[in-house]
Amino acid sequence: MLERVPLLEKDLDAYVEFAGQDAIDRIRALAEPLRGARILHVNATAYGGGVAELLATHVPLLKSLGIAAEWQVIHGSDEFFAVTKAVHNALQGADVEWTQEMARIYLEKVLDNALLLEGEWDYVVIHDPQPAAMLSLLTDSAVNRPDTKWIWRCHIDLTDANPEVWEFFRPYVERHDASVWTMPEFVPASLAMDRVVQAPPCIDPLSVKNLDLPTPFMNEICRQYGLDVDRPIMCQVSRYDPWKDPLGVIDAFRIVRESVPGAQLLLAGSMATDDPEGFHVWEQVDEARHGDRDIHLLSNIQQIGNVQINAFQRAADVIVQKSLREGFGLTVSEGLWKARPVVGGRCGGIVLQIRDGQDGYLVDSVEECAQRTIELLTNPERADEMGASGREQVRNNFLSTRELEDYLTLFGELAP
Ligand code: UDP
Repeated sequence: MLERVPLLEKDLDAYVEFAGQDAIDRIRALAEPLRGARILHVNATAYGGGVAELLATHVPLLKSLGIAAEWQVIHGSDEFFAVTKAVHNALQGADVEWTQEMARIYLEKVLDNALLLEGEWDYVVIHDPQPAAMLSLLTDSAVNRPDTKWIWRCHIDLTDANPEVWEFFRPYVERHDASVWTMPEFVPASLAMDRVVQAPPCIDPLSVKNLDLPTPFMNEICRQYGLDVDRPIMCQVSRYDPWKDPLGVIDAFRIVRESVPGAQLLLAGSMATDDPEGFHVWEQVDEARHGDRDIHLLSNIQQIGNVQINAFQRAADVIVQKSLREGFGLTVSEGLWKARPVVGGRCGGIVLQIRDGQDGYLVDSVEECAQRTIELLTNPERADEMGASGREQVRNNFLSTRELEDYLTLFGELAP
């Protein structure tokens, strides 16, 4: 069978304090007819990146509702992940040459995984392109039962998708019974599917990454990683990926420092197993840093886990997510939830989260990013007001309970 991801237990009632009793009651009512349903989520990585983050909460919450939910990951190879990363980039609009050899590598590995898929499921949710062809390659009728409902969850912005790569994937996607998207704008016009649903991602207020931390503990973590909490901190948390524009963040920081001389920049980014580009981008960023001691470059290799990310996001005076392309950008909601203002690239799901001028700013360039950051660093009261507004924005729209409600609604609608 595919590798099963071990999960923590979560209790839906613990979310009342954040989401309110009404939301919890609605969720329980939606879940009642689905009690005992067998639901499988499949993606490509158990850690690193937003999808893993979402599933680590979503699947335990389904289980807490009496649903037999599981999360399994496909296995890959360096070659396979190089292809799927190219696919990811191409679907986000990069100029990538799509070859027959790439298609072969992709399909062979998905077939390997399809052969490993076991069990009887009422619903299977396939995340992103890596396992997208799985349904089409299944031969075992025990797994591919006629009444199993298949859902494809696309976490990527396909607005400018490379047509050749999208056309390769489209028939595999269209085999599913429904697809779920972060924003309606991301759905290609050519997609022929009856049920296309919007359900943006969310954050878990009770996860180690987001729960409240006592200030002395937060300060000590920052100190251990060389940050001075008495000086302004600008922080971007994200994978080392060109679309997250870490080099642009460094350029913006250099402008910021001319106006705010004591400022520090923290770039914290994990390396996911399905992202071979990460190390290369890390090297580029390290080089661009020119040994500057106020530009802190950290990753999971230096034991940067959820607690550290939590502390960094709380300690930051301004959080930046200067992406050029973004599916959603969980880091934006994570920052806003910690009542920090966020300066985000005007793209993808970032525009769903930041109300420009209210919870932070949307920016289109290095200069604008720098100017908005300076504005917030030199007016901490305004920064705090924006942060407080951002926390409410997340409470109302981007907590795990909202996403759970969206999925339960979809499962209910697809029920035979
Ligand atoms: N993240 C992390 N450690 C890091 C960098 C990122 O835990 O060093 C987390 C981050 O907090 C967020 C997720 O990885 O929860 C990234 O999700 P996002 O949607 O921002 O971007 P993606 O990586 O999915 O493109």
